[in-house]
Amino acid sequence: MNMNTVIFCAGHYGIQLLNMIHKGLFSPEIQVNKDDIFFCDNNPEVIAKSYIAGCKVLSPDKIEELGKDTRIIISSPQNADFVMEQLHKIGVKHPVYYTPEYVYKFLWNTANMPPFVKMDIDKPRIKKLQIPIIELCNLNCRGCNLIYNLNSEKRMSVDEFIKTMKSLRKLFSGIKKLTLLGGEPFIHPDLKNLVLEARHYFSDSDLEIRTNGTQIFKLKDELLSAILETYTEIAISLYPPLIDKKPEIELFLRERNVRYRFLGPFLEFNKIFNPKGDYDGEEIHRGCELCTNLMQDELSCGLGHGIETLEEYYGVSLCKDEYKKLNRFNIHTTDLDGWEINRRLALPTRLCDFCAYQKKNDADNMFLWSCGTPKLEDWII
Ligand code: SF4
Ligand code: SF4
Repeated sequence: MNMNTVIFCAGHYGIQLLNMIHKGLFSPEIQVNKDDIFFCDNNPEVIAKSYIAGCKVLSPDKIEELGKDTRIIISSPQNADFVMEQLHKIGVKHPVYYTPEYVYKFLWNTANMPPFVKMDIDKPRIKKLQIPIIELCNLNCRGCNLIYNLNSEKRMSVDEFIKTMKSLRKLFSGIKKLTLLGGEPFIHPDLKNLVLEARHYFSDSDLEIRTNGTQIFKLKDELLSAILETYTEIAISLYPPLIDKKPEIELFLRERNVRYRFLGPFLEFNKIFNPKGDYDGEEIHRGCELCTNLMQDELSCGLGHGIETLEEYYGVSLCKDEYKKLNRFNIHTTDLDGWEINRRLALPTRLCDFCAYQKKNDADNMFLWSCGTPKLEDWII
């Protein structure tokens, strides 16, 4: 019996995927002339066309009528989370696959980068996850937002990283944007293996290494190869010492075909904590980028961990434990599922009343970038 293939999202990505199937690029997984190929879309105007590029267009509620020998391939990286949640709510039982961005760049077929990633629609993805893999940094910016300028030597071993990846897989079907950062991640001696493992466990992710750029010219060929092989992007935060080097960095990475982007320039830093806790937390939270950090095996926004680090280092008490511990979820021991963790991480807590991350327009809160010996007042309003 033939297997039906439903390409979910008939837009630009859907058409590109269909063309790739017609060219036989995914043979033998999907064979032209043997498979029946359909489009599915949420846009009523697209559904009204009935056929696109010779394929029948279905609305999502008609997928079940195709029978059990059907697979669904989500074509659009932008809409993937919405579609997965939709299929979960409809209760679709067919296997669901996702086509990552690297497929459209003709970069698949390595062991860790399949053209179609099987997704478990009974689990959500995390939208943005940052994993600090090393707490040491060579730049020591005063007021470092993650507080990694206190010369901690802690780093994640490859074994710890694999354990982390496995626990995350139990809770989530994928990670939309996965960022490895530090400290300075290029100081980590096993970065190559961490990148390969990250790609192995999360083939669906837009994978990124965030760096201060100081180590770029020293990158070893084998690390660069792993970065290329895994379609990892290097995001360079431009702090004052590196601003003049931007053209050289660009040339270096371009010549090696590495994906990169610049963030900043960051000429000013902001303090992160208001010990009075008298902000309107809900308002502060509305401006929050809602990045999830993984620190000490816990998913959280990271502020509670940061405050604890300062308290321990300077021997002071800045905030009640009951606030610092809010919305922190241990990935190895939590009783919650991924949906509930995502839901709670998106909510404001009492800790937001103390959070100065978002007070970037407040002159009292900003100071010119410098590096050097850290002081507690670099973080505290
Ligand atoms: S480069 Fe980044 S991690 Fe390093 S001290 Fe500066 S802000 Fe912190
Ligand atoms: S404390 Fe609230 S506003 Fe601040 S980073 Fe965390 S979630 Fe966002």
